[in-house]
Amino acid sequence: MNTVNAYAAFKAKDPLKPYQIQRRNPGPHDVVIDIHYCGVCHSDVHQARNEWGQSKFPMVPGHEIAGVVSKIGSAVSRYKVGDKVGVGCFVDSCRECHSCKQGLEQYCEKGLHLTYNSVEKDGKTPTYGGYSTQIVVDENYVVKLPDNLPMEKVAPLMCAGITTFSPLRHWKIKPGDKVAVVGLGGLGHMAVKIAAALGAEVSVLSTSNKKKEDALRFGAKHFINTTDEKAFTDYANQFSVIINTAAGKTNLDQYVSLLKLDGTMVMVGLPEEPSTLGAFPLIIKRRSIAGSVIGGIKETQEMLDFCSKHGISADVELIPIEKINEAYDRMVKGDVRYRFVIDIKSLK
Ligand code: NAP
Ligand code: ZN
Ligand code: ZN
Repeated sequence: MNTVNAYAAFKAKDPLKPYQIQRRNPGPHDVVIDIHYCGVCHSDVHQARNEWGQSKFPMVPGHEIAGVVSKIGSAVSRYKVGDKVGVGCFVDSCRECHSCKQGLEQYCEKGLHLTYNSVEKDGKTPTYGGYSTQIVVDENYVVKLPDNLPMEKVAPLMCAGITTFSPLRHWKIKPGDKVAVVGLGGLGHMAVKIAAALGAEVSVLSTSNKKKEDALRFGAKHFINTTDEKAFTDYANQFSVIINTAAGKTNLDQYVSLLKLDGTMVMVGLPEEPSTLGAFPLIIKRRSIAGSVIGGIKETQEMLDFCSKHGISADVELIPIEKINEAYDRMVKGDVRYRFVIDIKSLK
């Protein structure tokens, strides 16, 4: 066992504090990763504050991990010491169910082993995330990071990138499709960049007028302020796909009314409070509402290769770990441009 520095939440709503955790000695298939950067996802805030009601404490959050392999187990074949690698939202799965066999580990039928707030494959050892200096992960749940993009800007692709890439691919976005993105935060800004690179005509549906210039810079053609109720009549029946990344409760009837015939709104945001949806806006244009969670390992690697090819990475604000509680508060207020990333040097 190896003792490493970390930051943990000890109780819902209490500030995160320094903590030390044990990382296992590498087994034959494990890689030891020295973490350089870890992105801060709104899911970290939801869980550290127990907004989803299933938090286990102490909790070391962080599932947008970017680092360098420092040691490998005897049977590791995919990675060598010095490789730049990433770890996302899960560190293992059953590997046997229908979903796992198709590379859709995120939908594992026996339950995923999440990177934190979960347990290892033994069913009892708690998992701890990337707000720490080191992590040990089976090589099958690690991906290779591109060389041509800065590592701190790539870290957020491990959740925000794949969570938006996966539905855009699943719903087969192609050049000219009209795609809207609700919420210009960590996930939202990646959705805009990726959808634009797929050739879509992208609109941003935001509550913050101040984000207009950034939205256009990320590749959006249109910026729509949803605090103006008129937006929902002006832009009715327009979009093939809406990716809803809002971290807070939204009026789903209103957003659904923006879909054209056979359009789909994909929910990726996971607000604390449930939203309601009436049948009328769905039936009158054969619209659908769907959900999507992160992406599998193979697809995560494809997303990284796609981002590498198109020069896509996150717009980040690098912070030392001491600023994490302030970052959480700012995120809740929508004051993030567009992903906080922890410089893990500050934990050493
Ligand atoms: P974030 O950076 O805080 O961005 C969320 C954005 O949503 C905000 O910046 C804001 O954008 C908008 N927003 C917030 N409250 C809203 C409300 N009540 N109505 C309309 N818009 C609202 O968060 P994130 O890290 O992108 O995560 C977004 C959500 O996705 C979180 O709930 C998170 O837990 C979830 N998530 C899901 C998955 C998955 O696999 N499905 C993966 C990661 C995260 P504007 O200022 O532009 O309005
Ligand atoms: Zn996340
Ligand atoms: Zn499985």
